[in-house]
Amino acid sequence: MIARHIGPDPDAIGSQIALRESIKLTFPDKKVYAIGAGVNKFKYLGYLDKLDYNSLTNALLIVLDVPNYSRVDGIEGLMYNDIIKIDHHPKEDIIGTVDFTSSDYSSTCEMVANLLYSTRLAINKEIATKLFLGIVSDSERFLFKNTSVGTLEMSLRLIKDFDLDFTNLYNNLYEKGFNDCKFEAYIIENLIITKNSFAYIIFDNKKVEEFDTDITKASTIINNFNFIKDFIVWCFVTFDEKNEIFKINIRSRGPVINEIAGKYNGGGHDFASGARITKKEDVDKLLKELDNECKKYLAKGEK
Ligand code: AMP
Repeated sequence: MIARHIGPDPDAIGSQIALRESIKLTFPDKKVYAIGAGVNKFKYLGYLDKLDYNSLTNALLIVLDVPNYSRVDGIEGLMYNDIIKIDHHPKEDIIGTVDFTSSDYSSTCEMVANLLYSTRLAINKEIATKLFLGIVSDSERFLFKNTSVGTLEMSLRLIKDFDLDFTNLYNNLYEKGFNDCKFEAYIIENLIITKNSFAYIIFDNKKVEEFDTDITKASTIINNFNFIKDFIVWCFVTFDEKNEIFKINIRSRGPVINEIAGKYNGGGHDFASGARITKKEDVDKLLKELDNECKKYLAKGEK
């Protein structure tokens, strides 16, 4: 059973499906499933398995791209014997019996690609395509600090070995509707920017509806602000009405933010983190803390 985090992105789903296909190809008799809720916009990465696993008693759980049990999608009630973990987030409570955890990689897809190339696990063009898309997406087109020489070498290897039509593949990740552009413009117009160069927006759901967009796009749009030199930290706050929870996206060009996010039921990477908060007062507290972090950063003269 291959699982990954809730609210998946192309790295989570890409690594999951690529690994499933590789295991199937290498060991045709094994039963291997990629589990968790499907996401329409990532259908191009392949299908997820829908199965009733309550009758399984002897599963091997492979957890990808997630460090904590509370954020693994779709394993409630699953009886498993052992865990293999592969993840590029800082270590939290999941420790695999076999554990490949390292923040030195751009993405879990890069780690899975390394695994396939260094073992007898099979790889073909379809698998290589998913891994390449996960690497490109999670490194934000090789712009994030987690991009290394190894990331570039692995990407080149996948492109060369499987003749990937990489420029056309980008459409899957970056094509967007004009409404999404207008939504981005709305965010730019409505960001609140403090004197400490902290920028944030608390979305008004009624307003968002007018753009006929999917609020989960906030996670993608927030990355478009990476090179705005007037912001040190920036943050989007969305209220999920169904689950009655505030979802927070945070990015930084300076201070490490995942420790602050960690205090608010969150976590993630040093400069790209998220949190889930139930009380509005705690959202306000988090915003204050982030603003203060920018103030300290400015005081140190690091900008
Ligand atoms: P996002 O802003 O949703 O793209 O998330 C940025 C990073 O933070 C990703 O690596 C997520 O896995 C991580 N993340 C987001 N929300 C949480 C959370 N509530 N707890 C731990 N990590 C999170």
